[in-house]
Amino acid sequence: MQIPQTNKVFNFDKYPTLEKDIDPKQRAWIEVRGKELETNVRHLKSKLSKNCQFMAVVKADGYGHDAKVVSEYAIKGGASQLGVATLKEGIKLRSSGVKKPILILGNLYTRRDLIISFKNDLMPTISSIRECLICNNIGKHFGLKFSLHLKVDTGMSRLGFECNKFLHQFEKIKSFENISIEGIYSHLASADEFNSLDPKSTTQLQRQKFQELLEQIKVNRNQNIKIHLANSAGMLLNQNFHFHMVRVGLSMYGYSPLAKIDKNLSLKPALFLKAKVAFIRIIDQGVSVSYGGKFLSSRKTKLAVLSIGYADGVPRNLSGKINVIHNNKFYPQVGSITMDQMMVDITDSNEIQIGSTMILLGSDGDKTISPLDWARESNTIPWEILCSFKNRLPRVQVD
Ligand SMILES: *Cc1c(COP(=O)(O)O)cnc(C)c1O
Repeated sequence: MQIPQTNKVFNFDKYPTLEKDIDPKQRAWIEVRGKELETNVRHLKSKLSKNCQFMAVVKADGYGHDAKVVSEYAIKGGASQLGVATLKEGIKLRSSGVKKPILILGNLYTRRDLIISFKNDLMPTISSIRECLICNNIGKHFGLKFSLHLKVDTGMSRLGFECNKFLHQFEKIKSFENISIEGIYSHLASADEFNSLDPKSTTQLQRQKFQELLEQIKVNRNQNIKIHLANSAGMLLNQNFHFHMVRVGLSMYGYSPLAKIDKNLSLKPALFLKAKVAFIRIIDQGVSVSYGGKFLSSRKTKLAVLSIGYADGVPRNLSGKINVIHNNKFYPQVGSITMDQMMVDITDSNEIQIGSTMILLGSDGDKTISPLDWARESNTIPWEILCSFKNRLPRVQVD
């Protein structure tokens, strides 16, 4: 760091005052790697049969990556549909210029929301006759067909028609003239469990239940209805789960949801989390660090203060359990993670300075830290880690 010379002439006017003009890498940020997303989609698609479609699931702002960027690169990689959770997410994607079909995976239950969904060319997920009727009315009003997907519950007990009653209800739904059934789907509850290939596993039983239902309603007679069941884990199990489309989130972002990692699965993380060193201090042996004094230095210690904390989405319960990477070396995080900052022991480094960039998630050289590591340490799942990142972290797109 250069100390400014007093005799240097500054042009004070050129410095920005607006929030939007602040360097996104001034403090801490998420780097989103579009090319990796595209490659992951292409790679995953190569495991599908030729006619099977790939729905890129971009809910929760693209698992924290930025839904717009993810959609753009997923489409480049071959995704032909997009999945979001909410009406707002769908509208945002449409207004960013995405033209592909968008399915809302959550439940819209008011006429108002369904009308807005229709007007934005978003397909709702329908789980009851009541909502089918509303959609049919909306379609009738506009003199058009309302495109939607029907969902059946095969074991989640979340959304979806009750499986036993669906046969009867489907006959009725087919008679509605102003809706267009674009898809019928269900959702797997435990596909990421180690026993999912065991014929008696809940995953296989769910598949069987779904398959039987499809045969009962003779869905084959209607070639235009897309059948889909698999999330990332289901997709990676085998082609029996693929049907006409797969709905892929986690693995598209570069992580395998399966405990047994397929050797041929070459997925690349699309997210790097980085933060700058904002301050450096040296403390003596036996000095406590951060709230609660949970860490006591065992030697004279050089500390880097990173400008990132739990208000950015780094789980506080990872305090003292993670490393950060700089120049192909790990450095341990020490003391409690605070709202906006955390300390790292950099005693062994001569090169880290104020302003140096540290990698919290991602890789450098042969060192890697993955959301899977964080999830294990904080007793959660990688999905939760990814969608915990707050808007305070700028998303910076790199190719
Ligand atoms: C989130 C979601 C997916 C994607 O799940 P991943 O495990 O991240 O691949 C698929 N289908 C539905 C209904 C979802 O809600």
